[in-house]
Amino acid sequence: MTWLGIENRTAIVTGGGRGIGRAIVQALHDAGASVHVFDRDPVEDLECCAGQVAVDVADGAAVRLAVDALPEPPTLLVNNAGITRDRSLGKMTDADWQSVIDVNLTGAANTIRAAAPGMFAAGHGRVVNITSINGLRGKFGQANYAAAKAGLIGLTKTAAREFGRKGVTVNAVAPGMVLTEMTLSLPQEFRDRALAEAALTDLATPEDIANGVLFLMSDAARCITGQVLQIDSGQYI
Ligand code: NDP
Repeated sequence: MTWLGIENRTAIVTGGGRGIGRAIVQALHDAGASVHVFDRDPVEDLECCAGQVAVDVADGAAVRLAVDALPEPPTLLVNNAGITRDRSLGKMTDADWQSVIDVNLTGAANTIRAAAPGMFAAGHGRVVNITSINGLRGKFGQANYAAAKAGLIGLTKTAAREFGRKGVTVNAVAPGMVLTEMTLSLPQEFRDRALAEAALTDLATPEDIANGVLFLMSDAARCITGQVLQIDSGQYI
């Protein structure tokens, strides 16, 4: 896949130990990148990555140290780490609110600010932030999550404007319901509800999300920046 222009590039994927992040790590590895996974804890069976770094993305100082300690500056960055603490607004605690903002939004800002100088020096960079259709439309019980994911879109668009002249594109991918271990373990009615909203007949797999990320990381997407690519089987049109 030489047309991708990804081979031999150094990448960071946050939250790459499982779920969607893991599929992104595999896709970037298959395309020839040297992939470093930034996760809270290293996982044992992740052979396809160049290294795993145990770091909390919400901790800006730790993220800077971790990025600076990589063998070479990354020019590919996927902000995928994310958490949920779902409750209706009336029941949401301060900790529910703050932890989701800290990981899902501030975490992405931390890695972007740490990796950007290396990308500027290389004159090339690709950043993809994993947001959600619920950041576009809102969702009952997810005020913290939707606010963080909507904020991530504002961060994407602003970084795209600030970094474009330095050869760095910044885009977002917005999945709908994705068939991960977590969503597959939910009662069938949850998937049925998502399918009922969808225009297509299948929900996305982690590999479908990884395909979109790979495209945005590639040379084929060199003129695309500041965009939100929905991969949601038409759940939110
Ligand atoms: P998972 O919960 O399966 O995986 C999330 C990963 O992020 C885990 O490896 C987790 O580590 C890591 N992580 C969590 N907090 C931190 C932190 N503070 N610092 C570093 N790593 C952290 O999530 P999914 O694969 O389902 O989702 C991935 C992304 O896609 C998220 O941003 C999510 O919001 C988004 N998304 C998911 C959808 C879905 O249907 N699954 C739909 C729309 C968007 P640990 O194992 O230690 O918890």
